[in-house]
Formats: sequence, structure tokens, C-alpha cells
Amino acid sequence: MGNHLETIYLPAYIEKKMIQHTRECLPYETCGLLSGTTNHISSIWELESEIKHRYRYFVSKETVNKTMEAVQSRHEQVLAIYHSHPTAQPVPSKEDILHHPEPQICMLIVSLQAEPVIWQGYTIADGQYYHRPIVLV
Ligand SMILES: [Zn+2]
Repeated sequence: MGNHLETIYLPAYIEKKMIQHTRECLPYETCGLLSGTTNHISSIWELESEIKHRYRYFVSKETVNKTMEAVQSRHEQVLAIYHSHPTAQPVPSKEDILHHPEPQICMLIVSLQAEPVIWQGYTIADGQYYHRPIVLV
């Protein structure tokens, strides 16, 4: 698995934006992409879930593809996908693991069940999840 467990660097202002986005969407789940280069995040792409649900989110392939094009036009790559857990711990659900697109992309879960908000990064591979270190910079 190797580089799938390398540390990712997350600027504090992007972390703030991400948490704000997940709060704004309460009581529903939401999601977004974090992109950058060589494990350093430099952009946040807030997505809008196309279903309003407390335990699920859905974004169409079309929306994802459009966003991916924008990411590529900045010469960045998607490093992480974040989503919120409005009332649950920041632990991947079976559905989360099943629908995660690629092991190279970190899964970041923001839990809003208590204050302060907590989040955790994961690598998803072979139906398992592993802690992925994310350091605030
Ligand atoms: Zn989830």
C-alpha cells in the first residue's frame, strides 16, 4: 500500500472552510474534494449533495467529472474526498467503503455529532480502512 499512507498536509484556512461547509448543510450530509500537489492540499471544492439525507450523500458523475476537469486545469490532483457525519463518529461506514473511488484518494470524514467538531483521514483499500495521517499547516 506504501504511499497511500503518506502524510497529507492541510492548510488551516481550508480546514476551516471545509468545517463551515459541513455545518451549513446540517442536518444533512455533504461532501467535497480537496486537491493539490504531492500531498499538499491547496484547493477545496464544495460539492452539493443531490439528495438531502442525514446518513448519505450523492453527487452525480457529471458533477464529479466537471470538478475533476477544473482540478486538472489547475494542474492539481484530487488528494482527498471529504464528507460529513452529522450524527455519527468519523468512522467509515460500509457504504462509504463500498463507494470510495480509488485507494490513492484519502477519505476524510468530518463528525458534527459533538463540539468540538472532529475529523479523521483514512485510506480505503481492499474493503478495509486505515488511518491516514493529515497534518494541519
Ligand atoms: Zn460516511
